[in-house]
Amino acid sequence: MPQARLIDGKAIAAALRSEIAAEVAGIRAASGKVPGLHVVLVGDDPASRVYVASKEKLAVEVGMNSVAHRLPAETTQAELLAKLAELNADDTVDGILVQLPLPKHLDTADVIDAIDPAKDVDGLHPLNAGRLAGGKIAPEQLLVPCTPLGSMLLLKSVLPALSGLEAVVIGRSELVGRPVAQLLLQADCTVTIAHSRTRDLASVVRRADIVVAAVGRPGFVRGEWIKPGATVIDVGINRLPDGKLTGDVAFAEAVEIAGAITPVPGGVGPMTIACLLRNTLTSFKARRGG
Ligand code: NAP
Repeated sequence: MPQARLIDGKAIAAALRSEIAAEVAGIRAASGKVPGLHVVLVGDDPASRVYVASKEKLAVEVGMNSVAHRLPAETTQAELLAKLAELNADDTVDGILVQLPLPKHLDTADVIDAIDPAKDVDGLHPLNAGRLAGGKIAPEQLLVPCTPLGSMLLLKSVLPALSGLEAVVIGRSELVGRPVAQLLLQADCTVTIAHSRTRDLASVVRRADIVVAAVGRPGFVRGEWIKPGATVIDVGINRLPDGKLTGDVAFAEAVEIAGAITPVPGGVGPMTIACLLRNTLTSFKARRGG
């Protein structure tokens, strides 16, 4: 049995960042303006600190104005909302991202609601989620959550024609499962969203031409569930006790059966920040021309 084609998220993300860098350089040369990405981090969660630092670094690499606002863990809701109001009012700020999770005393939904939807580069504001669900606007013109957007770009790199294909998304989170399902639906796939109450998940997955796993359980999707030749997008990032990262799909099994598959690490992960930069550019163009 031939092995599945590996979908190289690292290379595809690097190519996307180069395209963005070229466009940003063109905008700067023509207008002297550059897109501005502002990331707000509350507290000192070590994982969040690392994520924010890589967002900052990659935004600088593509020539954007990149600012991280590091606020103390005891920041109040009112202080955070005031910071967001300040960023909303600043015309040079194109993208605002509040790094999640927030400390427990803060109300995440209210914080996301307070971000100007035109600057919501995480695509989590209810207005942006509603526009995506409405299906009337092309996703390229929307601010769509970054990991789902990245997953779709990986999928399209191996399957240019998605129309009519059976897609099964495992997971229904606001951040990943739901928006991925909306994007697949908009691409005319027949979409099933599976979750923890789904009965006989193996046979649901077995009918899929496309499987997107966003569960948060290492090796949860078994190779024998996968239809031969299917395309598998593994969104999961799980840390094993030995420190290694692994996905939601039992990779060694699935690679023998799938037609194409994303590795973890090096699959969906690198696409997330590249899509954040893409959203920042989309927001800049919609707000300030370019
Ligand atoms: P989440 O909010 O915890 O959602 C997990 C989903 O999986 C839920 O909808 C849950 O169903 C479903 N689920 C749990 N157990 C299940 C089971 N036994 N059978 C079927 N479905 C089950 O997680 P998330 O934020 O969507 O993230 C999912 C994974 O993606 C995690 O590993 C996360 O680290 C990773 N992730 C990666 C990136 C990236 O950049 N690559 C970004 C974000 C997340 P219920 O709704 O019924 O509980």
